[in-house]
Amino acid sequence: MELNQSPPRLNLTLLFFFLLLSSLQATTDTNICIVGSGIAGSSLAHFIKHFTCTDPQNPNPGSCSWIDDIRIFERRAVPGGRMATVTIAGDTFEAGGSIIHPKNFHALRFASMLNLSHSPESDEESDSWFGIWDGSRFVFKTLQPPPSWSSFVVKKIYSLLNSLLLFRRYGFSLIRMNGFVQGMLDRFLLYYKGFEARPVFETVDEMLKWSGLYDLTRRTLGEELIDAGLSSHLISELVTVVTRINYGQSVSISGLAGAVSLAGSDSGLWSVDGGNWKLAAGLINYSGAKLHLNEEINSISHEGVHYVLNSSKGNSYKCEVTVIATPLDELSIAFTPSISLPNRRLHHTYTTFVRGLLNFEYFGFKHASEIPALIGTLEVPDVPFSSISILKKYDEEDMTYKMFSRGPADDSLLDQLFSVRKETVRIDWPAYPHFKAPEVFAPILLDDRHLYYINSFENAASTIETSAVAAENVARLIISRLEKLASGSPTIKIPASNDEILHLDL
Ligand SMILES: Cc1cc2nc3c(=O)[nH]c(=O)nc-3n(C[C@H](O)[C@H](O)[C@H](O)COP(=O)(O)OP(=O)(O)OC[C@H]3O[C@@H](n4cnc5c(N)ncnc54)[C@H](O)[C@@H]3O)c2cc1C
Repeated sequence: MELNQSPPRLNLTLLFFFLLLSSLQATTDTNICIVGSGIAGSSLAHFIKHFTCTDPQNPNPGSCSWIDDIRIFERRAVPGGRMATVTIAGDTFEAGGSIIHPKNFHALRFASMLNLSHSPESDEESDSWFGIWDGSRFVFKTLQPPPSWSSFVVKKIYSLLNSLLLFRRYGFSLIRMNGFVQGMLDRFLLYYKGFEARPVFETVDEMLKWSGLYDLTRRTLGEELIDAGLSSHLISELVTVVTRINYGQSVSISGLAGAVSLAGSDSGLWSVDGGNWKLAAGLINYSGAKLHLNEEINSISHEGVHYVLNSSKGNSYKCEVTVIATPLDELSIAFTPSISLPNRRLHHTYTTFVRGLLNFEYFGFKHASEIPALIGTLEVPDVPFSSISILKKYDEEDMTYKMFSRGPADDSLLDQLFSVRKETVRIDWPAYPHFKAPEVFAPILLDDRHLYYINSFENAASTIETSAVAAENVARLIISRLEKLASGSPTIKIPASNDEILHLDL
């Protein structure tokens, strides 16, 4: 008789301990759900662990205060989002976010922490061989580089001659343009300051006003550059070429997005060997977050003390904190209660990869070897592409190219542009915001509880680094708001200073 009764007693005891444990956990631990595994979502997971775990490299619940569980949902089969690669005839190339600035200190630190090797984006000489195409002729071309086996002196003379050519065409405006970009970079560097000197921001407007970058979002790049003393010649040619390559848009984008885009033509740009997506994959792994691939979040509703996330796999997840780490402009996640966002649209960049050979006759040459390695274009109505660049040269008649355009590149267009086409890959990227001045920013806090939106910062500028900077702020915001709610706050490990990352050996 007794024997028969003992199992239920044991079960009740177990149940009691289980309930006690889970109630303790509910009051002391927080779980965070992140929608999107790009650099925003992955770096958020990293920063949360970095700021709350005594041993971020071993982020088990015991070594982390509060945050016991981070889940990242990704609708695609691989992490990284707009940091993605494409494979053409066995070679892998960046398809989305490809170049990282030497002063992008979060990305640099991530690469070094994750032991990811990185290389200059491309060979400096061939990079500086560019032409500006107006739809019927090249209005400007730099010199064709000397052969790669040329001496150091020959290469130096080549680069000097190119600088002279540029100076002859655009004069001192070039120096003023560099000053404009440097001014933006100096302000951006403030986001790496130590926590004691840098507040946590609840809105994008606050964040930009604090660094002095807000005013640049009020006016167009064109207006800002005229005020900075640049000639209209430089703005309508070189600056236009750069904004069309980097954001697919004209100089009517906001001054801040434009300055960031111009910084993308600086020297020293780099990318992670094998693909920048490795930054996201590495950060997720390092943070110990659970990654749910092929699982799209369809709805998010606030119920009681939780958000309930329903996924395409029919699963429901209860999350105390939910973070949106993807632009919401073209998504159809159903929010209950509904959220309010400015009505925005993304700029689509059609990216076409071709292995083959450009048609030299289309560009008015006698031989393909005369075509510059990078063709930029002016803001004129009939140019069917924004840029074409050589990604890899196998021999004089066989290359892989990347072409950006504002519309899809159909076969008839490609057959005009290319005389040989062995392989073609097309990607329609919902690429970045359609920047306009004055910018209106979506909220970071989507409700008065714990629903956060990292990509509200993307309307300031859209880059790998700006997503990481925005994610770091959201990580601090989550921690500080949870801390305010908690009674008898556990210690949150927030480094006294972030300044060490400014002293990385570049
Ligand atoms: C063609 C192109 C070129 C670029 N060039 C550069 C460059 O050279 N340098 C640079 O710094 N930046 C560049 N950028 C911009 C840069 O890539 C982006 O700003 C940055 O990668 C954005 O990262 P993110 O994490 O904020 O968003 P994303 O990378 O877009 O990540 C969002 C993720 O969320 C996922 N997702 C969306 N909805 C759901 C859902 N409902 N459920 C689950 N998952 C969901 C998406 O699949 C995606 O993986 C470029 C972008 C493009 C498109």
